[in-house]
Amino acid sequence: RDHGGMARLFSRNDPDRARQQMVDGQLAARDIDDPRVLAAMATVPRHLFVPPELAASAYEDRPLPIGRDQTISQPYIVAYTVQAMRLGASDRVLEVGTGSGYAAAVLAELCAEVFTIECIAPLAESAGERLARLGYGNVTVIEGDGGLGRPSDAPFDAIAVAAAGPSIPDALVDQLRIGGRLVMPVGRRRGGQHLVRAVRTADGTEVETLLPVTFVPLTGAAGQ
Ligand code: SAM
Repeated sequence: RDHGGMARLFSRNDPDRARQQMVDGQLAARDIDDPRVLAAMATVPRHLFVPPELAASAYEDRPLPIGRDQTISQPYIVAYTVQAMRLGASDRVLEVGTGSGYAAAVLAELCAEVFTIECIAPLAESAGERLARLGYGNVTVIEGDGGLGRPSDAPFDAIAVAAAGPSIPDALVDQLRIGGRLVMPVGRRRGGQHLVRAVRTADGTEVETLLPVTFVPLTGAAGQ
């Protein structure tokens, strides 16, 4: 008998169980060890952020299509990014690339206020509606070019970019407070991308390369 198949079927019908299996098997079993990050990933209902026909795949170890040639990132990559942002509960953060709104919801579980910018209007609109419906009152979704940041609400304690740019945009570094962290994929449109963390210091930035990744391209003024 196919016990694996039975387990998968059961998980599909039980999103809470599937989500905890994701946290244990894909996150804690790798290098996600921040208890606040693990708790946030165990809380946000990822299956409500994917197209309904893909809900049964929401807790698999991969990105999924969300329309308009865009994706909801792999759970591990979301967890890795937010862990690398070293968030405190009182932090105000900016995300570039709202997509489905999933990562914004994870950020909203971890810090005080989230601003998230999406350049594709229908995605911004549906993410905003979804986040409001799910009760994420501390998230503001903005339609626009996130490469320019959000000067009117800067400075931020941390910034995450969910699309790969050719370099770290100066406009975003300028909107970090001293000590603030920016985590983003940098590299060519296809292949050779790395997640990097830039920490703003009194006299510049300290940049570390963290992990090889594959993201959709950043568009707009600071894009590919
Ligand atoms: N964080 C998202 C989630 O949890 O579903 C996944 C984001 S998806 C990998 C990248 C998103 O960045 C896409 O929705 C894309 O439209 C958006 N994007 C690309 N360039 C952008 C820009 N310059 N400004 C704002 N959004 C941008």
